Amino acid sequence: MSQAMSQGTKPKHTLSGEEIIRCTGVNKWYGEFHVLKNVNLSVQKGERIVVCGPSGSGKSTMIRCLNRLEEHQKGTIVIDGIELTNNLKNIELVRREVGMVFQHFNLFPHLTVLENCTLAPIWVRKMPKAEAEERAMSYLKRVRIAEQAKKYPGQLSGGQQQRVAIARSLCMSPKVMLFDEPTSALDPEMVKEVLDVMIGLAEDGMTMLCVTHEMGFAKSVADRVIFMDRGEIVEQDTPDAFFSNPKSERTRLFLSQIL
Ligand code: ADP
Ligand code: MG
Repeated sequence: MSQAMSQGTKPKHTLSGEEIIRCTGVNKWYGEFHVLKNVNLSVQKGERIVVCGPSGSGKSTMIRCLNRLEEHQKGTIVIDGIELTNNLKNIELVRREVGMVFQHFNLFPHLTVLENCTLAPIWVRKMPKAEAEERAMSYLKRVRIAEQAKKYPGQLSGGQQQRVAIARSLCMSPKVMLFDEPTSALDPEMVKEVLDVMIGLAEDGMTMLCVTHEMGFAKSVADRVIFMDRGEIVEQDTPDAFFSNPKSERTRLFLSQIL
């Protein structure tokens, strides 16, 4: 799985050209604070996007708007043809298609690893328990943690919990996966095991938006890097162009601080 990263070659795939996310003129305020300013974003099926930028620039807010964990006030967000508005039915439909992995895993502490993975398929998708368990085990195998299926989250390391969180999302067969700094709460030795799982997903053609400061991951996996600052998308480009020839002063400053 990690070969792509170690060899510095990008997983092979062709973009479909089919749009799955479109944000048009999206604005959001927290009270008086203008947190997202005129965000325009189009994502194709199968595209892998890394979102970076200084702390407080609105990265989390932007991706949380994509599954309506946050509400935007102006502009439109359309996911796989469904517009996110106050329509609860649409919100539910979009949430079924969009998986989300957070910095702090957010597993249910009182449920086993396996139960964490079968809860939504059984209750939301109405899947028979045996089938949900079988699928969950196959995803747990894929993130190489099947042997821990009977354990509780608190018995696992951070890296293992994050891999369970990824498997749990995959159990809902999402069309898009959103990652919000999935490795930034992990001890350094656990970062790679989570990135390897994400690389595997990228190789399999999953549409991914990843907020991360793992620039090695961005270079080897992303089709596009988006740089946000003060609520705006300041710059977006292929990783090669982004890292070797950043266009704006703000991007250059940011890169000089993290690289
Ligand atoms: P990032 O993920 O880039 O660090 P966030 O999207 O978390 O940025 O936050 C962007 C800005 O919005 C920050 O200034 C933050 O303090 C503010 N903010 C985030 N969430 C809320 C909230 N629920 N209420 C008020 N302000 C918030
Ligand atoms: Mg954030």
